[in-house]
Amino acid sequence: MSAPLPVADPVALTRALVDIESVSGDEKEITDAVELALRTAGHLTVDRVGNVVRAYTTNGRPQRVILAGHLDTVPVHDNLPSTVDGDVMYGCGTADMKSGSAIALHLAVTETQPVFDVTYLFYDCEEVDDERNGLRKISDSHPDWLRADFAILLEPTYGRVEAGCQGTLRVHVRTDGRRAHAARSWLGVNAIHGAGAVLRRLEEYQARRPVIDGCEFHEGLNAVAIRGGVAGNVIPDSCEIEVNHRFAPDRTPEQALDHVREVFAGYHLDVVDAVAGALPGLEAPAARDFLAAVAEPPLAKLGWTDVARFAALGIPALNFGPGDPNLAHTREEHVEMSKIVQAADVVRRWLRADPR
Ligand SMILES: [Zn+2]
Repeated sequence: MSAPLPVADPVALTRALVDIESVSGDEKEITDAVELALRTAGHLTVDRVGNVVRAYTTNGRPQRVILAGHLDTVPVHDNLPSTVDGDVMYGCGTADMKSGSAIALHLAVTETQPVFDVTYLFYDCEEVDDERNGLRKISDSHPDWLRADFAILLEPTYGRVEAGCQGTLRVHVRTDGRRAHAARSWLGVNAIHGAGAVLRRLEEYQARRPVIDGCEFHEGLNAVAIRGGVAGNVIPDSCEIEVNHRFAPDRTPEQALDHVREVFAGYHLDVVDAVAGALPGLEAPAARDFLAAVAEPPLAKLGWTDVARFAALGIPALNFGPGDPNLAHTREEHVEMSKIVQAADVVRRWLRADPR
């Protein structure tokens, strides 16, 4: 059993969490330490299922908010234990996202009278396949744990609010032809040549950039693979272009598919997969107060994140954390300690309704 976590100081706490190695699938030790720290706080009720821990206040407040963070990291790459150079802490998980989870743990233990009731969630296996994701498992087995009016995921955003996320859709667009011997090609119809018209539609495509709740999204429609051809002496009768569509969250997957069908009108189209995005949800009262505390305009989240899980449950959610998202999963991963202090201060002022 290691020493108790230094919960009073979010920077020291970040370092302590970073130095407990917790690559996905190996989170027992860090979850034990986090659970123990939460159980020292008399104002919290604590539950655990597997390596997911929930701690929550029951102060009878009119709104409940969630602060959530994963405890796992990608595989270590000669970057543990942590090191410090000036204001910068280096090490696996410093940015993604032990600095964020440390802020949640620090506030869980130190803020006894927040203006909202707060549920703190720490979970495992975020960096691996969806079916192992601790937050996904809990949303299936204990959906009541996720009941809230608003949620913040403390993933790295470098101190900005990143809200919502784009949906994703893949289709196969097929062109048909007629086989013939290459020596008498005029007797056939070349399906690969037919793909040219499909590719031109993609080239000429003007992607939307809708602004939703003040966040500018940026859609995309792109060929990501192409397959065709029978043999070196045969005019091909079929060609298939795989197209990836990233769509803003003002469209459902069905609406996005209708749009893609319009773009490729006249062609046969098979759907490979479709995943909904998430609206920014910045109109929720708790979200507006949080934006005021951050005092910087929000950005659109373009990739898919666990925020969409909350959105699917009808809970507006956003990302906010001290780490730089561009450093996540890199060997030189690091976080500025002053950023940890600033981000902790923003969330603390919000929990105290202290606009300053
Ligand atoms: Zn992460």
